[in-house]
Amino acid sequence: TLPRKARDQLPIWSEFTQLSTKYNSVNLCHGTPALDPPSFLIDNLDRACREGFNQYTLFSGHPLFREKLSEFFSPIFSQGKNNQNLNPNTEILVTNGASEALFCAIHHLVEKGDEVIMFEPYYTSYVSHVEFGGAQIKTAPFYLKDGKWEYDFEALERQITPKTKALMITNPHNPTSKVFTYEELLRLTDIVEKHPQLVVVSDDVYYFLPYDNRKYHLFANIRENYKRTITIFSAGKMMNCTGWKVGWAIGPDDLIKNTCLVHEASVFNNNVPGQIAIAKSLDQTLKPYQGHANYYQYVQKTFQEARDNAINLLKMSNTVKFKPTQCESGYFMAVDISENEHLIPDKYKQLGNYENDPNTIVIQRQFKDRVHLDYAFCRWLAVEKGISLMPLSSFCLEESKFKLENFIRLAICKTPQTFTDPNLVKRFSS
Ligand code: PMP
Ligand code: GLN
Repeated sequence: TLPRKARDQLPIWSEFTQLSTKYNSVNLCHGTPALDPPSFLIDNLDRACREGFNQYTLFSGHPLFREKLSEFFSPIFSQGKNNQNLNPNTEILVTNGASEALFCAIHHLVEKGDEVIMFEPYYTSYVSHVEFGGAQIKTAPFYLKDGKWEYDFEALERQITPKTKALMITNPHNPTSKVFTYEELLRLTDIVEKHPQLVVVSDDVYYFLPYDNRKYHLFANIRENYKRTITIFSAGKMMNCTGWKVGWAIGPDDLIKNTCLVHEASVFNNNVPGQIAIAKSLDQTLKPYQGHANYYQYVQKTFQEARDNAINLLKMSNTVKFKPTQCESGYFMAVDISENEHLIPDKYKQLGNYENDPNTIVIQRQFKDRVHLDYAFCRWLAVEKGISLMPLSSFCLEESKFKLENFIRLAICKTPQTFTDPNLVKRFSS
């Protein structure tokens, strides 16, 4: 049986993707990039399979891949005071996407009765990882100030107890897109340093996607943080191959060793040809690409332009009022939809099935007393306007007062043309 908080949230991922399939609505709810992986990566995968990289490898990941990750990430982890040359054998663990790295990291850190703290809204799978580990979830809120997301550090500090074993941060963040500033990371470091038992799990899967020349900093690079931080990345987000499910964790040898034990006890190995293809492509990602300094700049520019077009598109809507919040990075933008309650037909606001078709019912999230505004809005938009978005309250605890039900999440990891497409423009402006 799924633990309670994880169960409360279901079926958040399936409901809106099912609606988008059933009603042929444009899927802007799921974080699926519209760009293909670079062709050199695909060629390297083909070659890896033909050259015989098709069988199991070492539990911690193929040695060639860990070697290449060390070469690529050592300079990144040396940008702070922490002068690291990452040891590929002890400080890097390859996992089944970032998701498995998060799962293994949390599982080795907590026992029944422990607590894990995170900012809310959070990336949803954190809740299941913590609960599967028998620990309690504690949260501190984000808040919106002049259209920009801010962390409530005081609330975070108040919530930490001697039982709090881990702090999970997402930098850049999903679903708000916020990137920690250097000052914010210093503030967080000040808090963490007061609690020697705390390990930080830093989910940095959108590391390569800061927009508007925003400066990005790793939490692990500040002061002595490296010694207590597991930093997690995803090849899916780095190279637009989310379906390959290759990720990795980087950290000090004691934390990585224990994370690897959970990995060995659960899945052993993952996608060996994918690891080899990525290993052989890392150097190429830094070379000039389609008129840009490197592959990452190409992807950043594409998604940033898509974001700008999405903002223009939202402004075109005559009846529905969309108020975008600042989108700093990653795959998503949060949008305020609070002024639209009067537009939503009652059937979407009431408990029970909102669909007319009893034979092919979309699996729906059940509410206890009332349907959250963002859910009513997203259901209405998907069924009647042909646009699938994601309710932001699904990234919050059911019991939380801070439900963010005035917001939706829109995927901007598309091409700029996606948001100027006449079909989508018509749907948004009707
Ligand atoms: N962390 C965050 C913040 C994410 O948005 C995602 C989803 N893409 C993941 C982790 C999981 O990444 P992966 O697909 O590599 O498991
Ligand atoms: N991280 C992606 C998102 O936030 C995918 C999540 C998933 O596949 N459940 O949309």
